[in-house]
Amino acid sequence: MADFFIGGEWVDAVGGGRREIRCPADGSLVAEVAEGTREDTEAAIAAARKAFDTGPWPQTPAPQRGDLLLKAADLLDRDAAAFARAESLDTGKRLVESEYDMADIAACLRYFGKLAANDAGRVVDTGNPDAFSRIVHDPVGVCGLITPWNYPLLQTIWKVAPALAAGNTFVLKPSELTPHTSIMLMKLLTEAGLPGGVANLVLGAGAQAGAPLSEHPDVDLVSFTGGLATGKIIAASAAATIKKVALELGGKNPNVVFADSDFDTAVDYALTAVFLHSGQVCSAGARLIVQEEWHEEFVDELVRRAELIRLGGPFDPKAETGPLISAAHLEKIERYVAAALEEGAVLRTGGKRPDDRELAKGHYYLPTILDNVKQGSSAVVDESFGPVLTVETFTDEDDAVRIANDTHYGLAGAVFTSDASRAQRVANRLRHGTIWINDFHPYLPQAEWGGYKQSGFGRELGPTGLAEYTEAKHIYQNLRPAPQRWFSGEPAS
Ligand code: NAD
Repeated sequence: MADFFIGGEWVDAVGGGRREIRCPADGSLVAEVAEGTREDTEAAIAAARKAFDTGPWPQTPAPQRGDLLLKAADLLDRDAAAFARAESLDTGKRLVESEYDMADIAACLRYFGKLAANDAGRVVDTGNPDAFSRIVHDPVGVCGLITPWNYPLLQTIWKVAPALAAGNTFVLKPSELTPHTSIMLMKLLTEAGLPGGVANLVLGAGAQAGAPLSEHPDVDLVSFTGGLATGKIIAASAAATIKKVALELGGKNPNVVFADSDFDTAVDYALTAVFLHSGQVCSAGARLIVQEEWHEEFVDELVRRAELIRLGGPFDPKAETGPLISAAHLEKIERYVAAALEEGAVLRTGGKRPDDRELAKGHYYLPTILDNVKQGSSAVVDESFGPVLTVETFTDEDDAVRIANDTHYGLAGAVFTSDASRAQRVANRLRHGTIWINDFHPYLPQAEWGGYKQSGFGRELGPTGLAEYTEAKHIYQNLRPAPQRWFSGEPAS
């Protein structure tokens, strides 16, 4: 079956390549899909370029573009069960989590659909009654959208929805591990009425199918969500053509717990912060920074609760979290924990694959807690992107802020305290793109999402998330044109 969507047609990989997609929960074959190369992506870029330069979409009035997104949201609601199932088979995550994701995705489509309809640019006061000046928001052009495997369709829609709302065309290259909901999305957008060539999809490995999106001169913007190392490659290769770049990279997110918090609530959130989706969340609270006087009691309770977390596949109703995405990722986590232990961390629980034979076919790893990690050690500095919590302690507010900011990442963080003014003070001082107070993980389509420092640049969601996909153009009109005589037009005397 042809899996690439290029210029409004379903086509196969030029080279005939195929890739097996296997469910991370048990290794079962989900499907085989086409595997692309540079040639496929270049064909998709050409289609997106043509649709942008000659097609109707960029000129379609913004409210109509918004209507299409609202229609797409309705279609997604209709097909949510099938989308959630496909997402769970690709990622191994619990079906209920994929169902939540689909509801969030529909909400994101609706948010940008409505935002597009309301963007009329702005009038600028020229200070001159004979001149009229306004700012319009043009689409940037052809967008290359590269997305990861942890929240495949959610991360995709954070780019696709604003890109379409603003009138761009795009080529999407989802993670090679989780392609199915992107394939389904192309069908859904077509049913919603999107003209051919506006949305294009290629599948395949990053270095082959993905790389042209950052390199090609006909791509005007590349928006990437993924790891730091890949982000550096993309930023460097995009520099050659000075295309616009947005990077949503990893995080090493601090969860600061003061000893005046509600103990049970703080423990409960600390678990969800790091072990949700087995830690494969860019904003995972993988760095617990707890006030010294609570250290022992808090970690004891975390260990007790972590050992009760039930692992299982997408359709196991008893499962509370699922597998890691791949054997390679599981091995990476094993190496990460081994390095932490060599550097002196104390293993309080986990640190291995589960003994349960039922889980042996999947890529499972036990919820793991590493205590007494040293600042500057690899476990504190590097993102594991797995179910691994490190524990550090602090003395007072200044110490907490210093430790929580001591990272080259800056994606998200949380502070737990019952003191409302302390909560605000600490939130103001943390150098991370999202700060939660007495909570962890919620995000809103209307609130900007993105990183400080090496967690990336640019923002998704919110009004800024739409602005990323636009060019602000100034149109100045002289309403009473007459010769200015700046140059006199007279021969020099
Ligand atoms: P990854 O960097 O390995 O891959 C991400 C995407 O980039 C995939 O589609 C991959 O095929 C593609 N890619 C790889 N090399 C490429 C290249 N040279 N050129 C173009 N494309 C290339 O990341 P991953 O393992 O899929 O995702 C995990 C990472 O994503 C974690 O670090 C996580 O923190 C991050 N992430 C960040 C956010 C955020 O909002 N900041 C959200 C989700 C995930």
